[in-house]
Amino acid sequence: MYRHRYTGTCTEKVCDLAHFSYDRDNCQGPNFWDRITPCWGNCSSLLQSPININTGETIYRPFRGLKFLDLCGRISAKIRNNGHSPHFMADDRTPVKLGNVPYSGNAGFAFHEVHIHLGQWESRGSEHSIDNQFYPMEAHMVFFDDRYENIEEAQAHRGGLAVIAVMVEFSRSNGNIFKNPFFSRRQYPRLKRQAVWSRNSCANTSVCRKKSANRLNKLMEKYYTIIKSHRAERNQEIIENSYVEVKEKISLSDVLPYDWSFYTYQGSLTTPPCYETVQWIVLRCPIAVSRKAYKSLITVSDIHGNSLKKFGIRRPLQRGIKNHPRVEVERNFRCGSQGNRRNVCPIDPDGY
Ligand SMILES: [Zn+2]
Repeated sequence: MYRHRYTGTCTEKVCDLAHFSYDRDNCQGPNFWDRITPCWGNCSSLLQSPININTGETIYRPFRGLKFLDLCGRISAKIRNNGHSPHFMADDRTPVKLGNVPYSGNAGFAFHEVHIHLGQWESRGSEHSIDNQFYPMEAHMVFFDDRYENIEEAQAHRGGLAVIAVMVEFSRSNGNIFKNPFFSRRQYPRLKRQAVWSRNSCANTSVCRKKSANRLNKLMEKYYTIIKSHRAERNQEIIENSYVEVKEKISLSDVLPYDWSFYTYQGSLTTPPCYETVQWIVLRCPIAVSRKAYKSLITVSDIHGNSLKKFGIRRPLQRGIKNHPRVEVERNFRCGSQGNRRNVCPIDPDGY
């Protein structure tokens, strides 16, 4: 086992003092998370996330569509660089809630935060993959069962968390239209390969009405630049002013695509302590942000002053025993079905 390149230690008996890294060559890297501290044993357990979603093997279930309370409301928030990645965090308990989470009955889930994952390579930044295809980024909207006092309490209980994952692509710099590979001869060889894997696929993102997430774009460009210099201290204490108020406030509609059809499975947090208490809701349809927004994110510094792109902020796929996912992934749309238009907010800069 390698030594930790900054602290010189690999393990920590006191859970709260333990640290992890995305550097795979480091003894605190993703392959060793379960061994760093006794409280992180879950990280090598059987229901770990992220996974590849093999859409041809997913099972259709007529789950109720996602329901949001105060979808368009803009709520007070702060952004914080926790030393691993920047998080847009709601202030206190918000009126924004998620309902109809699969297997959660009528429970309401309170919105807690949104953060975005990226990789060392532009094309491979999402944590989940869909039919082995990765996206440049993946946004996570984290909710907790509001029957619990707070997220810390909820995350320790089965089904206590629901996370909506939205794949993030690049928009064209000049507007809302996505690059259409069908008009590009240079991309033809890639298309041919896609045609092969799509034979057993149920992904069908061509039905998605593409959304340029303009508000998210602006928040990323502005606030990642501001918190870039707000580093966690070397002594591993998070400095107070690492919290910056988001003046524009945030809304779920900033991040959601128009179509909310989803894949769902029971999995885990993708960072230690890796609790297996997450009902994952991975949306079929992606959103797009600008390259400038992406560049603002990759240049944010981690706890050691490295750019986030150096090691990426994504946990590798958890393949389980003999490379087979252990979990059953379900979906709430029929293969070949058309997407829906949703998410129309009164003052929506992404509107029609
Ligand atoms: Zn995440």
